[in-house]
Amino acid sequence: MNSLDHNYDALVIGGGPAGLAAAVSATQAEARVAIVDDNPGPGGQIWRGEHRRPNSHEAAEWLDRARVKHVEFIGGARVYDQPEKGLLLAETFDGALELRYRKLILATGAREIFLPFPGWTLPGVTGAGGLQALVKSGLPIEGKKVVVAGAGPLLLAVAAYLRKRGADVALIAEQAPLKSLLSFGFGLWRWPGKIIQAINLKRELAGVPHVAGCWPVSANGEERLQSVKFRRGRKTWDVVCDYLACGFHLAPNVELAVFLGCEAPDGVVLVDEFQQTTIPDVYCAGEATGIGGLELSLVEGRIAGLAAADRREEARALFAERRKIRQFADLLNRTFALREELKSLPRPDTVVCRCEDVSFEQLEKQTTWRAAKLHTRCGMGPCQGRICGAAVEFLLAWRPESARPPVFPVKVGSLIRDVKPIAGKGQ
Ligand SMILES: Cc1cc2nc3c(=O)[nH]c(=O)nc-3n(C[C@H](O)[C@H](O)[C@H](O)COP(=O)(O)OP(=O)(O)OC[C@H]3O[C@@H](n4cnc5c(N)ncnc54)[C@H](O)[C@@H]3O)c2cc1C
Repeated sequence: MNSLDHNYDALVIGGGPAGLAAAVSATQAEARVAIVDDNPGPGGQIWRGEHRRPNSHEAAEWLDRARVKHVEFIGGARVYDQPEKGLLLAETFDGALELRYRKLILATGAREIFLPFPGWTLPGVTGAGGLQALVKSGLPIEGKKVVVAGAGPLLLAVAAYLRKRGADVALIAEQAPLKSLLSFGFGLWRWPGKIIQAINLKRELAGVPHVAGCWPVSANGEERLQSVKFRRGRKTWDVVCDYLACGFHLAPNVELAVFLGCEAPDGVVLVDEFQQTTIPDVYCAGEATGIGGLELSLVEGRIAGLAAADRREEARALFAERRKIRQFADLLNRTFALREELKSLPRPDTVVCRCEDVSFEQLEKQTTWRAAKLHTRCGMGPCQGRICGAAVEFLLAWRPESARPPVFPVKVGSLIRDVKPIAGKGQ
């Protein structure tokens, strides 16, 4: 297939739940619709790998709908530049690929927030969702002792998954106070489906200690992780383990949207009631518009897809459902807000930017993200601030000031627009 064939009525960036729902809904206009994703298959974070063998009924349904509706899937392609309106460049294994669109739907999801503490860079310390992704990709976890720590409901989902795969989950440490968790639990009566989910998770995790108001203060070991020191109030204690799966909730992936010119105050992409961004014909759905979980991603994706297909009345019919789920998302974000004490986790010599080896002490001497970049190279390594950025924002209240191409690090060949035709991939 020639690169000129990558010409779409609606192009969706991101093949997670929001992107799948958006793409399927956009086909209502019998349009040519494609999803581009940097992973080899569709599914995003939660349904990773399920295009080969779906584990959940919901994943199977959405993947099947995308197939039936002839949504094209372009896997292993990361969008990194827009040289002109309506033309995007994506990097693939074989070189850069040109993608043309009339309507664009951003469904770029979220990533975990990692906060630096002494020892957090030791082998054996991973993100919570990060360890889950490694196990899904084949890391053997059977019989390994794992502690799961940080913030948010993802901790429970990850712990349950790891336990199912044979891990010995020794502790789940949630930084939110017990009082917040209890009022969250009582507030769930408005969302009966969530109560059932919570009961199922609790059953799957029977016997695993789940401690609130508790967080890791250091990870210890010589060559790799051997134990983690936890704090709860004034008490500290050590837990011996093979893995610490640690994530402090999620941060929306907004870099691409910001680069395209969409407004994203407060770190979330601003959208109107039809999920349209501040740029005409560019929509956004899912975690990039604010952390809200699977159901919100799906309904936002459906609205964005229908709106892009000019089916506004059908989109409008979903507004009430979205409103109700957003109320749940607001409760979730209030409950799991990060506590101030976590700002004192790093010691002066704790590495914050692990790509460029920048310590907390070096950053404290700077006043802005820009100054920190210029003087320390913080955020300028291979991850381009994707790991340290959210930590710096929490610890020092700095935000990146702009997004420039390439949005992701790419090969020199891609930078000089080495546009290669690649074979089109169906799902
Ligand atoms: C690591 C991790 C693990 C999670 N695990 C669970 C879980 O077990 N259970 C649960 O209930 N929730 C989980 N979540 C939360 C879950 O992902 C969300 O609730 C929701 O499903 C997100 O859907 P989405 O479509 O908005 O984003 P995602 O599912 O994150 O999909 C976004 C997709 O866009 C792709 N993408 C981003 N930028 C580009 C680009 N420039 N070019 C090409 N592709 C791009 C990403 O690679 C990704 O595949 C997890 C989140 C994370 C970050």
